[in-house]
Amino acid sequence: MTIETPTTNTSELVPTYVSPKANLLGMTREGLEEFFKGLGEKPFRARQIMKWIYKKGAADFLDMTDLSKKLRATLGEHADLRVPEIMTSQHSEDGTRKWLLSMGSSQGIETVFIPDGKRGTLCVSSQVGCALDCSFCSTGAQGFNRNLSAAEIVGQVWLAQRELAADRGIDMLNSTTQERIITNVVFMGMGEPLANYREVVPAMKILRDDIGFDLSRRRVTLSTSGLVPQLKKLAEEVDVALAVSLHATNNPLRDILVPINKKHPIEELLPACWDYLQKTQGRNVTFEYVMLQEVNDAPEHAHELVELLKNKTYAVKINLIPFNPFPGTEYTRSSGNRIERFRQILRENGIIATTRRTRGDDIDAACGQLAGQVKNRVKKRLGEKQFS
Ligand code: SAH
Ligand code: SF4
Repeated sequence: MTIETPTTNTSELVPTYVSPKANLLGMTREGLEEFFKGLGEKPFRARQIMKWIYKKGAADFLDMTDLSKKLRATLGEHADLRVPEIMTSQHSEDGTRKWLLSMGSSQGIETVFIPDGKRGTLCVSSQVGCALDCSFCSTGAQGFNRNLSAAEIVGQVWLAQRELAADRGIDMLNSTTQERIITNVVFMGMGEPLANYREVVPAMKILRDDIGFDLSRRRVTLSTSGLVPQLKKLAEEVDVALAVSLHATNNPLRDILVPINKKHPIEELLPACWDYLQKTQGRNVTFEYVMLQEVNDAPEHAHELVELLKNKTYAVKINLIPFNPFPGTEYTRSSGNRIERFRQILRENGIIATTRRTRGDDIDAACGQLAGQVKNRVKKRLGEKQFS
């Protein structure tokens, strides 16, 4: 494991949480068109500027050479491009990268990049902490601090893209070819994305927009623990792949593991998933299932899961996630044998099940381990820099 100075010197950029000017990062195409209209400019400027920001990674209006000098100066007066500040950047031996980003007020979030052959998945956070308090999740144990803005969500992708390009010696601003390093974005970092619906939806629109990050709907995945009302609305706004944190096959157990289940139980959650697929003409939904030794990993649970999902018109995939322990947790990871047995039962009954490989072990970059000690670490860093 190595910790090093990030390539992008974010201390020279304006952090997301200060400045009264409009932050153009995180504005959707429609939002930018309105912004330019307000400046007395033609709406097509939105296209121009989005290309600079997202395709070229530009951080400075002065670099946007196809805009007139006058417009660049006007932009400088009324707007800026504010990104989160990188506190640390870590490399795992398996190629996984993790960034700790400051969110001001001694708060931090983490963003993880997981390379896998041609695929490069960025796992982004949507909140600082989480209020939903799932009993096996370290983010939940940390409690809820605040929602991220669309700019802070999009900023994670923007920063990671620049950092990863720099690693490969690519100067995004002047490069004529556009190698895609981040091929997939998953909302599986800290926070419950549907609890921050207002900011997550525009962020996803920018990820999907062909003049934004230009990711197809199968390459942006929203993972939710099951906020049914927001899930029902989502299909009308943006079309992305859906992953649902099921983790239990009956309500009494799910009430303990995923407490939001008391409000929106399984019999309400599953129809909302099928409804989402129907409305978006999606191919399938992925159910995440954390494997907790002797809690939810018995063969009976696998059979119960089969019952729950059989005879559905929609394709489902089960993603078994070996539990990632964190300090103070009462749970342990299911043994390899128990996971394999569980998966076998699902397969025998025609349900596709994969086991998630744990990546970035040496830098605590796995699901549910993020930000265990962020608050302390950020505080320490800020203290070192005499900021706080
Ligand atoms: N809040 C959303 C997305 C973030 S969590 C959700 O719950 O779906 C991303 C995934 O990691 C979820 O499936 C979550 O249940 C899982 N997870 C959380 N803590 C974990 C842990 N300690 N070990 C393994 N997976 C965990
Ligand atoms: Fe929040 Fe997801 Fe963790 Fe549950 S698993 S506490 S919803 S981040």
